[in-house]
Amino acid sequence: MTRRKPGKQKTDDGGSPPSPSHAQPKPSPELSASAIGVESERTDTRHASKPAPGLYLAATPIGNLADVTMRVIDVARAADVIACEDTRVTGRLLRRYGITAPMVSYYEHNAAKVRPGLLRRLQGGDVVVLMSDAGTPLISDPGYRLVGDAIDAGHGVFPLPGPSALLAALQVSGLPTDRFLFCGFLPSKSAARKKQLAQIKDVPATLVFYESPRRLPAVLSDMADVLGARAAAVARELTKLHEDVRRGPLMQLADAFQHSGPPKGEIVIVVGPAGQRDDDAEDVDTLLLRSLETLSVRDAAAAVADVTGISKRTVYERALELSKGTRS
Ligand code: SAM
Repeated sequence: MTRRKPGKQKTDDGGSPPSPSHAQPKPSPELSASAIGVESERTDTRHASKPAPGLYLAATPIGNLADVTMRVIDVARAADVIACEDTRVTGRLLRRYGITAPMVSYYEHNAAKVRPGLLRRLQGGDVVVLMSDAGTPLISDPGYRLVGDAIDAGHGVFPLPGPSALLAALQVSGLPTDRFLFCGFLPSKSAARKKQLAQIKDVPATLVFYESPRRLPAVLSDMADVLGARAAAVARELTKLHEDVRRGPLMQLADAFQHSGPPKGEIVIVVGPAGQRDDDAEDVDTLLLRSLETLSVRDAAAAVADVTGISKRTVYERALELSKGTRS
């Protein structure tokens, strides 16, 4: 839906009306695309026409600034205001591409206060761009209410798709991509976390979680307890200098990060679907179940830890879980 722009209105959201430098200059005839024989795919954004008024949801890089799309740059250059979480973070991206549109900070704790001003701007026919610090807005980031209110008020809402840690991690996980459930962040306390994991335990889809590196060892261990023997991947610092993806059974990953301690950087955990067990993990479970037929939990865990090289503590926890099933 395109809306006629009834002239500029004053805003109360901290943003300011666009400076003259954002007005789109008319292409001079000698430089126009058709004059130089290019009918489409113009990349010289100085001559791009002003986007339709509305709310633009612009994905930004999750590490590598070169991952921004040309469309995001075009629309951001023409924006009347860019609403973003931290103006210092977004400012770095904007400076890199010579974007001088005014920014207004829009984050969880000021959203209710700033939102009416953004809606008034939309009402006035402005181009409002929403950006997160990194990745796709609304994906574990602010924007959901703004989008809802903009839709309710009849404004145009347009996606500018691009990077998201969720999809980048899923792609490199090596796990099934045909069906997945994005679970966002789990609760920080173990009991609440396990409760939530139990709720999604039987979902026949790959599970994707955002997580803080500090909690990673404990979270993987809870996942191994509740979700059982499944293939998983820990994707860290995607698109950055220290990009790293570890793949393996949940139990082994839990064990590895318990030994190495919490890693640095940003993390996505991807876990294979219910009903699809990891071959290596299955080996551990098979060995444990066989050992539990004749040995105590402690002795079975010690024997299997010895054979597999996984720590006694991790195997013991798994043996306890399995023994509940076999001995109840
Ligand atoms: N909206 C963003 C998106 O689309 O990816 C996610 C925002 S959420 C507040 C931030 C979380 O995304 C981080 O805690 C981490 O779990 C994940 N993340 C962001 N950048 C990442 C990266 N480069 N590598 C791995 N995970 C990343």
